[in-house]
Amino acid sequence: MSDTIFSKIIAKEIPAEIIYEDDISLAFKDINPQAPVHFLVIPKKAIATINDIAEDDKALVGHLYVVAAKLATEMGFAQQGYRAVMNCNEFGGQTVYHIHLHVLAGKPMGWPPYTDKLKIE
Ligand code: 5GP
Repeated sequence: MSDTIFSKIIAKEIPAEIIYEDDISLAFKDINPQAPVHFLVIPKKAIATINDIAEDDKALVGHLYVVAAKLATEMGFAQQGYRAVMNCNEFGGQTVYHIHLHVLAGKPMGWPPYTDKLKIE
């Protein structure tokens, strides 16, 4: 699969505010934060979208949530609450095709997430 900007962050070819790293994952602050706290947890393995997650990736994807919760606890917002979300393809709002868990915190989140007057038929 083709390289994305996140491959370059993993390779330390471009800078990012990295807040956690282990052998299989990386977490760093989002460059365009949408909440007082907004970071991304990504696998080092390049997986383009949720649709490309294979059976063998189940533990890896679960690990992203474990890292998110660990960081939420360490950063002090786990009990208050937060959103952990992965966007998929165009309608999901995905812009970088290397899966990433958005972790947003520090203010109450709205629901539903879309902002237009879309009516569900
Ligand atoms: P998506 O829209 O694919 O769900 O989320 C991609 C996220 O990556 C966006 O929130 C965007 O701000 C963030 N992003 C894109 N390029 C960079 C970058 O070069 N560095 C960092 N730290 N975040 C980025």
